[in-house]
Amino acid sequence: MTRFAEKVAIITGSSNGIGRATAVLFAREGAKVTITGRHAERLEETRQQILAAGVSEQNVNSVVADVTTDAGQDEILSTTLGKFGKLDILVNNAGAAIPDSQSKTGTAQSIESYDATLNLNLRSVIALTKKAVPHLSSTKGEIVNISSIASGLHATPDFPYYSIAKAAIDQYTRNTAIDLIQHGIRVNSISPGLVATGFGSAMGMPEETSKKFYSTMATMKECVPAGVMGQPQDIAEVIAFLADRKTSSYIIGHQLVVDGGSSLIMGLHCQDFAKLLH
Ligand code: NDP
Repeated sequence: MTRFAEKVAIITGSSNGIGRATAVLFAREGAKVTITGRHAERLEETRQQILAAGVSEQNVNSVVADVTTDAGQDEILSTTLGKFGKLDILVNNAGAAIPDSQSKTGTAQSIESYDATLNLNLRSVIALTKKAVPHLSSTKGEIVNISSIASGLHATPDFPYYSIAKAAIDQYTRNTAIDLIQHGIRVNSISPGLVATGFGSAMGMPEETSKKFYSTMATMKECVPAGVMGQPQDIAEVIAFLADRKTSSYIIGHQLVVDGGSSLIMGLHCQDFAKLLH
């Protein structure tokens, strides 16, 4: 018996990166999955990876949609219920540090950037969750939100609105966890650190620059103490843990950091104290 047999999951932002790895893992573990994103070709790549893992076509619902729109959210939900008859797991993963239309950073970023960033990373999560709750209530389901270590106590001055949205997601996770556990629905979140995905490209980096960024960061102990770049699979495995009541039933409203140690680091780590002391 596979871990998610008989379970139905929606994974937003599954046309790339962490969402794609999660969709493949869940489907391989027996779940019927709704995969979704705006780019049809990338979404088809996810579907092909799921089929290549030996999963039946019947277990995949592929929806090209913009999750920030009412119509997109409704289609994601209605096609899931239409095809699979219920919903057990919602993974609110779609997100991005949307680049400013005039390539500005920091406080110079436009208010339109603020609207777009909050719309994707916060409003769409709240809207889709509200729509999903009646269905998750029937199945005593699970919600896993994807936040970021950018939401924490450190400043992210270059992309201020993204981290604001993720900080709000953390509080939304706690609020909804307590509100919804009375209906049997568990809500938790994950805060990834640096993970090699399409994230860099989506924030405006050329493909090569993005690859170089990830590989360089992994070599700097003051950035990633683990010394390796996070991979989508690293996060997918933890999403599966939190979405599986057999492994995490007593965890409620938790923000689980998965970052190779990045968020524990202070500026002091750019120094080699062993050398300074002798
Ligand atoms: P990717 O860019 O690889 O994937 C992002 C996914 O979100 C894509 O499938 C994209 O699909 C989807 N998406 C973006 N905008 C929309 C939209 N308007 N409507 C529907 N889907 C949308 O990045 P990651 O896999 O890294 O990102 C996944 C999550 O992890 C995000 O919430 C991100 O904030 C978070 N995260 C990532 C980190 C990292 O270092 N990679 C670090 C911390 C957090 P499409 O383009 O087809 O619409």
